[in-house]
Amino acid sequence: MIRLENINKTYFNGSPLHVLKGIDLTIDKGELVSIMGASGSGKSTLLNILGILDNYDTGNYFLNDVLIKDLSETRAAQLRNELIGFIFQSFNLINFKNAMENVALPLYYKGISRKKRNLMALEYLDKLGLKEWAHHMPSEMSGGQKQRVAIARALISNPKIILADEPTGALDSKTTQEVMDILKEVNDEGMTMIIVTHEPDIAQQTDRIIHIKDGLIGSIEEIKKTAGNSGQIIRP
Ligand code: ADP
Ligand code: MG
Repeated sequence: MIRLENINKTYFNGSPLHVLKGIDLTIDKGELVSIMGASGSGKSTLLNILGILDNYDTGNYFLNDVLIKDLSETRAAQLRNELIGFIFQSFNLINFKNAMENVALPLYYKGISRKKRNLMALEYLDKLGLKEWAHHMPSEMSGGQKQRVAIARALISNPKIILADEPTGALDSKTTQEVMDILKEVNDEGMTMIIVTHEPDIAQQTDRIIHIKDGLIGSIEEIKKTAGNSGQIIRP
């Protein structure tokens, strides 16, 4: 599903900063992978490249066997809409739109009618246990509820991959586990998922932990599943 070969990335605003120094990585369909590393080690940079939000300098990135390199912004946006769902630490909801409208937004970019996209948004909110909150504004919702809205928004376009950049970074520990349970459930249904996290508890619940250090993959940790930490499903 994802293949990175010797990916390098340098930021050139100010003195050059060589952030990714030759990343090789393969992620298969249906995997649940976490990325860990010190602050500033390049985790978000890597995720942005995977999400076709940013370019890399040298190397190759294959997504679904398509080489992602030097794409026009139009083509990049098209592939993003088709293939990728994003979840962010700060939720990135639109403050002046209610939950339903936020969830429906990706469908607007697909040219789906308002009626149909709102209906679908309600369906996804229902799946995430938020049916009653459809007409509430983000400012009226808790952090956990906002992240569930953001998850519904990521899922509504039926992407092939979910990329989550510290999705539980702004949540308390109970809500963190609730959100992680939802992400695991989505992965159980076959969705490939990549989660950047600072929290060992979260990383331990994934199949593999990719440790980034000094711009390279320092190590990859395979997590053995025990009866206690696999397939646990908690409906919100
Ligand atoms: P992480 O997510 O692991 O904390 P980032 O990928 O956000 O790390 O950043 C890696 C390094 O690149 C940091 O030193 C950061 O300051 C720098 N950086 C990130 N984005 C930019 C940018 N757009 N321009 C210049 N430097 C950047
Ligand atoms: Mg980051």
